[in-house]
Amino acid sequence: AEVWKQVPQAPPDAIFKLTAAFKADTYSKKVNLGVGAYRDNNGKPWVLPSVKMAQSALIADETVDHEYLNITGLPEFTTAAAQLIIGKGNPALAEGRVASVQTISGTGANHLGAVFLSKFYDYATLGGGKRQIFISNPTWANHKAIFNSCGITPVDYPWYDAKTVGLDFDGLTSTLKSAPNGSVFLLHACAHNPTGVDPTKEQWHAIADLFQSKGHFAFFDCAYQGFASGNLDEDAYSVRHFIERRSIPVLICQSFAKNAGLYGERVGALHIVSATKEQNNAVLSQLSVIQRSEISNPPAFGARVVTMILNDEKLWAQWQKDVREMADRIIDMRKRLHHLLTNQFKTPAPGGDWDHILKQIGMFSFLGLSEKQCAKIVNDGHIYMTSNSRISMAGLNTSNVEYVASWIDKASR
Ligand code: PMP
Repeated sequence: AEVWKQVPQAPPDAIFKLTAAFKADTYSKKVNLGVGAYRDNNGKPWVLPSVKMAQSALIADETVDHEYLNITGLPEFTTAAAQLIIGKGNPALAEGRVASVQTISGTGANHLGAVFLSKFYDYATLGGGKRQIFISNPTWANHKAIFNSCGITPVDYPWYDAKTVGLDFDGLTSTLKSAPNGSVFLLHACAHNPTGVDPTKEQWHAIADLFQSKGHFAFFDCAYQGFASGNLDEDAYSVRHFIERRSIPVLICQSFAKNAGLYGERVGALHIVSATKEQNNAVLSQLSVIQRSEISNPPAFGARVVTMILNDEKLWAQWQKDVREMADRIIDMRKRLHHLLTNQFKTPAPGGDWDHILKQIGMFSFLGLSEKQCAKIVNDGHIYMTSNSRISMAGLNTSNVEYVASWIDKASR
């Protein structure tokens, strides 16, 4: 019988649809600026040298088997991952106040965090009694889907100001002030996706002040540690600052997809910081219960690779170099694109100049073009990008940046 006849066709995922269209395109100069995955200067996926070394060592090691990991993952991995984001010397770690669980990359961390909030956040008395989470406008499209599916309503807060092509700091802070006390806010730790617009350190301090005075909960999503500045510690600044305040409740979703180039291996972690060790133990026990019913236990290989990199002096030094190399290439592409648009093509810019390309941080740049202008670049230029004018800077290289600039120019006139 036709038991599924009432199932409506769902639209394809925007990013994956874009990749499919790119693959099907036979034009020789086509460029894919859609997907947020690093490419080297030849436009190829890059296996990090540090990852290559670690995986060869793992494959050669005959003591490595394929048994299940613990429900909460590889302990050496979760410990090292927590130190990486929170900072080795952070008292929260020494005091045993961080519950860490290995997850299916950053997406899984967001999901586990959302399920945990939906089960245990005191929505009855905090956040005005509403089961909601404030998310930046715009944000990674999956945030809305993940929270909706867990019964938590996503509510937009201002982030991007189209006039300045920068941060809407006033809009953000006025929402932090007007939101009910104890509201949950999702923050991108660094390299905001899709805008590349990050607060300055001073702005983070002011944001943390408001979290503290309003008792808000900080749900950090950290998918790009190392990609923003090239320095892993620098990119953890916001998270560490919030934890140092002690009274701000914090949770962190961590992904190794981008900074270790382990996209398909699904390596990530969720860290929840508690006020006391007793609370921490209870939190960890409940995370373990949720994880058991969802995935039983996380995948091993990628976590072993990352653990090796984080714990071996030589691999650690190599990884820091690898991360810096990716960040530097992206920063170089920002400079080239900016120079081409400003000096060579003299292209009219949405906010008056193209400086936002230099100021924006991380893998993406938000050009500030209209949907119609983006459509022209995609359809006539064979340059694949999302309709909100987000481009992945990692898709640019010395061979295609001038071609891309020429189409941004054509679409802007
Ligand atoms: N959060 C943000 C903001 C992201 O950009 C991404 C990657 N696109 C993720 C989380 C999670 O990615 P993954 O599941 O591949 O780690």
